[in-house]
Amino acid sequence: MSTRSIGLMGGTFDPIHHAHLIVAEEVRYALNLTEMVFIPAGEPPHKVGRITAPVQDRVAMVELAVASNPHFSVSRVEVDRPGPSYLVDTLRLLKKQWGKDTELFFVIGWDSLEDFPTWYKPTEILEQLTRLVVVHRPGYKEDEEYNQQLEARLPGLLQKMCPVAVPQLDISSTDLRQRIVENRPIKYQTPAEVEAYIQEHQLYRYHTES
Ligand code: ATP
Ligand code: MG
Repeated sequence: MSTRSIGLMGGTFDPIHHAHLIVAEEVRYALNLTEMVFIPAGEPPHKVGRITAPVQDRVAMVELAVASNPHFSVSRVEVDRPGPSYLVDTLRLLKKQWGKDTELFFVIGWDSLEDFPTWYKPTEILEQLTRLVVVHRPGYKEDEEYNQQLEARLPGLLQKMCPVAVPQLDISSTDLRQRIVENRPIKYQTPAEVEAYIQEHQLYRYHTES
């Protein structure tokens, strides 16, 4: 049986935006992956209390955003699991579901990589469950000193991770939420279907960042 290579794009997607989609497509092409699966977070341990849109809305927006790409799909593996979702558990579940012949490539931006050593069981994630595909993000510097600091916190990380160059877009969900509060445009930063969904469901309007 041939090996399937599946890319995983995890995030809170609160809301999903074009940088997420461009990163996913670029990584899929660069690594010749069979497909990219978007995994909206249920209750991420590092973001408890910071999620602002209900989970069903975040999932619905991801589904709308990926619908036009036959290589993209959405997994409910995290949102259907009660309690905090640890990546290690998610990956174990997916490995079991998809079988040993499936190779996983989990995409992570440099901003999140900084936190990675503090995630639950990072060594098991790196050594047994997935390749870590690291993408640069505007505003987060990656130099030798930063790399060495990361390596000191989690030995083996640098050798295990796989950097992929992606177009740099300074778009963030935090900024989109703020724009909505302030009545500034989000057009072109997220698919039109997502923008329409946000409007129709009046998401993020009365929200302020804590
Ligand atoms: P928030 O501002 O709410 O944290 P976000 O824009 O960072 O939202 P997330 O859902 O937190 O989006 O991110 C999911 C994944 O996508 C993370 O690995 C993150 O690093 C990556 N990512 C998000 N935006 C970008 C971007 N503009 N360029 C590269 N990677 C990104
Ligand atoms: Mg983020």
